[in-house]
Amino acid sequence: MANPVRVTVWNEFRHEQKDEKIGATYPNGIHGAIAEGLNAIDGIEATTATLDEPEHGLTEEVVAGTDVFVWWGHMAHGDVDDAIVDRVHKRILGGAGLIVLHSGHYSKIFRRLMGTTCSLKWREADERERLWVVAPGHPIVEGIGPYIELDQEEMYGEHFDIPEPDNLIFVSWFQGGEVFRSGAVYYRGAGKVFYFRPGHETYTTYFNEEIRKVIGNAARWAAPVSREMPVYGNSDPIEDLSWYDRKHAITEGFGPTT
Ligand code: ZN
Repeated sequence: MANPVRVTVWNEFRHEQKDEKIGATYPNGIHGAIAEGLNAIDGIEATTATLDEPEHGLTEEVVAGTDVFVWWGHMAHGDVDDAIVDRVHKRILGGAGLIVLHSGHYSKIFRRLMGTTCSLKWREADERERLWVVAPGHPIVEGIGPYIELDQEEMYGEHFDIPEPDNLIFVSWFQGGEVFRSGAVYYRGAGKVFYFRPGHETYTTYFNEEIRKVIGNAARWAAPVSREMPVYGNSDPIEDLSWYDRKHAITEGFGPTT
């Protein structure tokens, strides 16, 4: 059997400790709920890392041993050390995957990879959300029906200031009337990025079986592809280019060479 996909679920883990209700919704933290869902899937091994651990739990060793990062943050994006963002960024460009969840749209790592503000509209009003599948052949939606319905979620609305996605996977409808590009795929360097919208901290979204399935599918899709890394810079020709050397010599006035 192929090696398991090693997933590191990163969470700032502040809401759960500061707010009793959120703590009760996610007794093992948002990271704990997401990791539990991932570990129930064959071929995935998930561990967790949080903001207040040394180096945010993302040491050189952890980052090097991670195939796919899952990222949840909201109130403490600014507390994430730029040196750690650099480390994760480098690993993603080198082939690792990144799944950015919900309010992670404002995380340093996502904004750096996108190059835009990643701003959006939002509203907390316990609205119904329907995430419509708009890329039915994509591996991220394997086993998912025409849409996923969530009884209560926070609304995120357009315009969402992201670059044009390389693949758009989900478009959400909200009860209040807005729509949102709620599942978007990007290729960055040798790595893959999936932004997935649902998961406001006051709702039980990360216990939802379909949401867990999408995150698991995304982890498998985003895992590194086993191949040599591209080589950049000055390069010797593959074909014989000696004619170019001769022509060059003539135009430079050194006479023909044989
Ligand atoms: Zn939220």
